[in-house]
Amino acid sequence: MQPPEAMPEGTHVPEPLLDLMDCTWCPRNCRARRLEGALGYCRTAAGFSVGSICVHRGEEPVISGPHGICNIFFTRCNMQCLYCQNHQISRNNAPIVEYRLGLREIVQRVERALECGVRCVGFVSPSHCIPQMLAIIAALLQRGRRPAFVMNTNAYRCLCHLVSAGAASPYLSSMSRS
Ligand code: SF4
Repeated sequence: MQPPEAMPEGTHVPEPLLDLMDCTWCPRNCRARRLEGALGYCRTAAGFSVGSICVHRGEEPVISGPHGICNIFFTRCNMQCLYCQNHQISRNNAPIVEYRLGLREIVQRVERALECGVRCVGFVSPSHCIPQMLAIIAALLQRGRRPAFVMNTNAYRCLCHLVSAGAASPYLSSMSRS
């Protein structure tokens, strides 16, 4: 089995990513073998590709509180709404801003924010990257981190996978239209 893109040869593949062998994570149902580098509609393989990881202080203040929320913005998207406010990172068929990071680096960046008082970790547009989101959550929990996890999603996902949203609470869903 090939390691996901952006992971060096021999890297341990986090268990949640194994679900990307035959992708049915959203209603597009591409059955892409993302773990082998194949791409479906969302043009996203099995690595950790993010537009940014930053502390956001203006969004959902009731949830994020005075210290803000550490948001992880995933790149590409399984919807492609015409009016997307994050089009610089969400387009599937044009150049975008993206950084291919390893799981360890993502966790280190989030931990730096948590050490500055941030108490929430947000996953922005994760509907096509649920296994990556679960791998990040598992890694943080393994390291004894207990932030609130917020899933900020377009909600275009399979009902059978909605149960995975239980890993992130609260669950923010946006009404979207292609
Ligand atoms: S997550 Fe991506 S590859 Fe998987 S079914 Fe949806 S669009 Fe296709």
